[in-house]
Amino acid sequence: MRIDVVTIFPAYLDALRLSLVGRAIESGVLALGVHDLRGWTTDRHHTVDDAPLGGGAGMVMRPDVWGRALEDVLALGIDHCVREGAGEGRTVLAIPTPSGVPLDQRRVEDLAAADHLVIACGRYEGIDARVAEHYAGRVEVLEYSIGDYVLNGGEAAALVLVEAVARLLPGVVGNPESLAEESHGAAGLLEYPVYTRPARWRGHDVPEVLLSGHHANIARWRRDRALERTARRRPDMVAALTADQLEPGDRGALARLGLAATPAGPRPLHVRPALSSDAAALAELAAETFPLACPPNMPAEDVAAFVAVNLSPERFREYLADDDRYLVLVAELGGILAGYTLAVLPRAADEPPHAPDVAAVVSARPVAELSKIYVRATAHGSGISQALMDATLAALSGRTVQGRPLAAVWLGTNARNRRARAFYARSGWEHAGSRRFTVGGRVEDDAVYVRPLVESGS
Ligand code: SAM
Repeated sequence: MRIDVVTIFPAYLDALRLSLVGRAIESGVLALGVHDLRGWTTDRHHTVDDAPLGGGAGMVMRPDVWGRALEDVLALGIDHCVREGAGEGRTVLAIPTPSGVPLDQRRVEDLAAADHLVIACGRYEGIDARVAEHYAGRVEVLEYSIGDYVLNGGEAAALVLVEAVARLLPGVVGNPESLAEESHGAAGLLEYPVYTRPARWRGHDVPEVLLSGHHANIARWRRDRALERTARRRPDMVAALTADQLEPGDRGALARLGLAATPAGPRPLHVRPALSSDAAALAELAAETFPLACPPNMPAEDVAAFVAVNLSPERFREYLADDDRYLVLVAELGGILAGYTLAVLPRAADEPPHAPDVAAVVSARPVAELSKIYVRATAHGSGISQALMDATLAALSGRTVQGRPLAAVWLGTNARNRRARAFYARSGWEHAGSRRFTVGGRVEDDAVYVRPLVESGS
């Protein structure tokens, strides 16, 4: 590749002779020419600017001087392409300007595939607009900005572009793998935080997982940190993630960040205690979601009868009015209820859980039951169940019954519901046994799971 920079301050570009770009030039991977625009002036004072037509402050760079410079510099590219056997080659005239399109990694990758890049550095109020207009008919013209701020001249923006492009040229960065995981790569994320020795510095320890030698755990930890950092610093990038950019385990990590992985990309998820005004929407959600967790051979009228009695708006109003006994949380996505949980607390601290297998496994009291955790079918796989589960466990960890903190929580799920069972096992619940459950007069077997609760603050 050949890059030519035209400027009135050639010395500004001396920095490109250093480090990796300098080495790329020495090794011949990159040919760099830096040219003084004043070399194409014709007057005694080497004038490159004139007053703006139409009036106004500042000066504008003259098109005639730029035109002569660009003719010569573009010709250098033709010679280069012929020498490299690149035929006509691909030439891009890049003009830095704060009013240009934002320079990002995709654009840099594209420019790294060009044969000849000419960077025209403006000063003053910029270059007469006809220069870009004229050359757009002859080569690719890119007016680019390196950020939403104004510099005095295009030289710093030229340094940025050359450095970003050069490190993508084959052989410039020693280990090409170091490019793969970087910020703004194909993963669409910012990079995770990085550490080196010593493992303890001024009282700050390196995260322990990085010293464990456990490659899978390290990879997961890094991925979680990358998601977390991107969500916090660049919500626009997280919102643009597509389903095929998400890895297994990302949904849980996003849920912990308050994001649901929807088909349109991760979207903010709001998990909150249900209000009495939610009763009707909760009943509608429950009527939609309860049948999905029932075994396929269960008669529809039995399911409907159960829903009518146990999941009606009145029933939810009762739950919501009795908050010593019931904890109801809802997950809201785009203003719509996408899921809910209902936990039942014991009335008395020593009340045994009404599932014998749980009572046998968990001796500590009081014990709550996570009676319902349901998510709309359209939102399955989005991480909402995880977010609801985390929020419910956090809320239960803070609850007491007759002054005693809850020791554990249990739940029963239909023994044949493999999706739910896999979810509980994955989320750290322990299989404790089974219980019988009646829906519309039919006896069903539930698998029972328990989870100890850690007191909040401990
Ligand atoms: N009058 C111009 C405007 O408001 O858009 C600003 C001109 S600026 C003072 C002078 C030169 O600095 C520009 O022609 C351009 O080469 C360079 N420059 C300034 N800010 C830049 C940015 N954010 N990105 C790229 N180039 C920039």
